[in-house]
Amino acid sequence: MSANGFLKPCSNVVKSFCRAYKASGIPELTQVRHNVKRGNYGTLDGKDVAFFESIVGRNHMLQEDLQGYNVDFLRAVRGNSQLVLKPNSSEQVSAILKYCNERKLAICPQGGNTGLVGGSVPVCDEIVLSLTHLDKILHIDEITGIASCEAGCILENLDLKARESGLVVPLDLGAKSSCHIGGNVSTNAGGLRVLRYGNLHGSVLGVEAILANGEILDLMSDFKKDNTGYHLKHLFIGSEGTLGVVTKVSILCAPQPQAQHVAFLGVPSFDDVLKNFRNARQFLGEILSSCELVDAGSLDCSVSHFKLNSPIEGYPFYMLIETSGSNAEHDMEKFNRFLENGIEKGQILDGTITGEVSKMREIWKLRELVSVALAEDGFCFKYDISLPLREFYHIVEVMKERVGHLANRVCGYGHLGDSNLHLNITCPEFTPEIYKCVEPFVYEFTSQLKGSISAEHGIGFLKRNYLKYSKSPAAIEKMREMKQLLDPNGILNPYKVLN
Ligand SMILES: Cc1cc2nc3c(=O)[nH]c(=O)nc-3n(C[C@H](O)[C@H](O)[C@H](O)COP(=O)(O)OP(=O)(O)OC[C@H]3O[C@@H](n4cnc5c(N)ncnc54)[C@H](O)[C@@H]3O)c2cc1C
Repeated sequence: MSANGFLKPCSNVVKSFCRAYKASGIPELTQVRHNVKRGNYGTLDGKDVAFFESIVGRNHMLQEDLQGYNVDFLRAVRGNSQLVLKPNSSEQVSAILKYCNERKLAICPQGGNTGLVGGSVPVCDEIVLSLTHLDKILHIDEITGIASCEAGCILENLDLKARESGLVVPLDLGAKSSCHIGGNVSTNAGGLRVLRYGNLHGSVLGVEAILANGEILDLMSDFKKDNTGYHLKHLFIGSEGTLGVVTKVSILCAPQPQAQHVAFLGVPSFDDVLKNFRNARQFLGEILSSCELVDAGSLDCSVSHFKLNSPIEGYPFYMLIETSGSNAEHDMEKFNRFLENGIEKGQILDGTITGEVSKMREIWKLRELVSVALAEDGFCFKYDISLPLREFYHIVEVMKERVGHLANRVCGYGHLGDSNLHLNITCPEFTPEIYKCVEPFVYEFTSQLKGSISAEHGIGFLKRNYLKYSKSPAAIEKMREMKQLLDPNGILNPYKVLN
């Protein structure tokens, strides 16, 4: 077992991919592809640039070579910003927003730019407000487990620091080497261990956020329990930069697990996947920390793209099951009983289990690199939906019938333990024909099953027209009123979340 607790399977691959990715491939301008009418915002001029320079300094702003800030990770959208600002304090963010609000200049807050719904890059010519220089870790308390940091702190850096105190950040995702904690909070990121630690609405204790008018809202807290009126912090968890800019975060970390095991299993049918999940909950109980599904098409993509070795092959479904506990021997006994039961009943056909760090890392790679491999498989239509477990995989089969002949690949994988499916359709290039076959069908299908059209990636730009499939008109109206109250000029991340 690693002294570091959580595994960090493939962070370097994702990191270098994120960098390389930003430099390659230029999608059509979003404004053109999606026929977006620019809002009634001010236009950046020389006086504005001089003002921003007086706030952040010449070395903390960019006016050239902005492609990495204008294009998203999936190369699905491209903005046309002419200016990137990189403030290094809450006060600088406040001064920038106050000025932009007065001048009605639109702003796009940006963290690690790993978002998958086109929320992190401008749609038109919004100024990019990069939080990259607000990256300090402020405090880690090894007794209480509370960590506080600035919003631009990279998730992996916070996690590594927390481990030095015997703690782990209760959030882990494939993009951890690039995404920021502020971006995670702003998207209410889920990831690989929501099953164990819950989502960020539970573990984030407080935030500092800067409102559109520049007001600094200090909602930082060191307490789990604080019932003093409305819990305003929740407004900034998952609001994707449309209500305020998160500048600081306080988060409750978990103790590092003392023992970890990972199994990778070949399963004959989706029905058996469900039975295995039920058994995993029963047999493994509180030590079950992750339950992921990878279908044959997804595994094939990561294995062939990254030339990985899968310990098993030839099955329609694979499950990655992880336990995190405090006694290796005891945990292994439980795991063995679970496996024996599954094998006996024919629900598990083959598999491997390990507690060795290097082997666990190899197994996690198979799952974590699926997302990156699919993004490289051509133009990728990516859906992140919550569905009732019994219906979880049906949409992949339906989509294969609908668009299989136009696609390179139609496959599904994801966080089975959280009822969260990543449906992916890759094709040689974006075409209106395939787009029309897929959308809005995928959202209608999800809505009919009372699922969520966005389980964890958010709404951003790409899903804003489909919010109605998961929220009632009354709820959307309240969201609009909230936006109007906090950002009356609509300068914060316009064209996102609400249309
Ligand atoms: C390989 C890979 C795997 C992934 N796996 C997962 C996963 O398992 N679970 C999951 O939930 N997501 C996953 N994602 C998506 C993405 O990593 C998350 O949404 C992440 O939280 C985004 O963080 P970021 O710093 O990159 O934010 P960005 O992409 O820069 O921004 C995302 C949104 O937040 C806003 N924002 C960013 N920072 C701030 C701030 N400080 N204040 C206000 N608004 C801000 C932006 O305007 C944008 O709307 C994955 C992405 C990749 C590339």
